[in-house]
Amino acid sequence: MTNPAAPLGPLEPGSSLDGTPPVPGGEYIRERFKGDRGDLRYPPLPEPLAVPVYDNHTHLEIADGEQPLTLAEQLDRAEAVGVRGVIQVGGDVESSRWSADAAERDDRVLAAVAIHPNEAPGYEAAGTLDAALAIIDDLAARPRVRAIGETGLDFFRTQEDGWPAQCRSFEAHIEIAKRHGVALQIHDRDAHDAVLETLERVGAPETTVFHCFSGDAEMARVCAPRGYYLSFAGNVTFKNAQQLRDALLVAPRDRILIETDAPFLTPEPTRGRPNAPYLIPNTLRFMAGVLGEDANVLAADIAANTVRAYGEWARA
Ligand SMILES: [Zn+2]
Repeated sequence: MTNPAAPLGPLEPGSSLDGTPPVPGGEYIRERFKGDRGDLRYPPLPEPLAVPVYDNHTHLEIADGEQPLTLAEQLDRAEAVGVRGVIQVGGDVESSRWSADAAERDDRVLAAVAIHPNEAPGYEAAGTLDAALAIIDDLAARPRVRAIGETGLDFFRTQEDGWPAQCRSFEAHIEIAKRHGVALQIHDRDAHDAVLETLERVGAPETTVFHCFSGDAEMARVCAPRGYYLSFAGNVTFKNAQQLRDALLVAPRDRILIETDAPFLTPEPTRGRPNAPYLIPNTLRFMAGVLGEDANVLAADIAANTVRAYGEWARA
């Protein structure tokens, strides 16, 4: 039950743990490692959705592609194809602040803030995890911060000596979500049992979301009676991801969400190229095909689920 692609790809060094401040007024605070990825062009815009939805998990603070898109360009393109809003997700202090600020600047953005499970051990080793958690707690009080995430456990990318810090950080994030009455967005990589056990023991927040759900049908059946939301990303379209399609088929319709995890996990037919919220229609239409459902009906259901989980994007 291994997630077929990395939810967080390698980042350029120097931007996450050393406290380097973001460029004032800059659109990005980090750049995705290009590595040996072949085609770095942003894919073409899909046909617009007739019924608008939301991308409930994206990382627009990361520049990617031959010609990186600005935050405004990302949101304009998304809106043009029926992706009405996004949840911009942080993974460290810096990106969490950026996310909360972006949500205040643009009505199409809500924010999630957290210390990512793969970042928690570094903060712990530096003696700054508690200070970082206090900053997340402060940010969570801002009205457009609607989720604590991404937090959780990652036993794939973090070695065993980092697991105690991950567990401590995860439990602290659960408490922050409950204290502020906002959703919890969980990153779970090769840690299904430990994540489920922690939620049971500590008590899950009322709204608990498995971002980039990576379990199978059996795990989806465990999540269903607990009311957990399962958020499907572009990897549900990957050839080798039958377990995700099996999970989708048994997930309660009122607990299905959709996300990009952009710039990662680009859905077919442009897997490998940079991902962006405007590619949600490709994943949504694929999911409708798996379910044998009309795409507009599925979009309406997912939009309703998303607003139930996070509240409205528009300001009152
Ligand atoms: Zn993510």
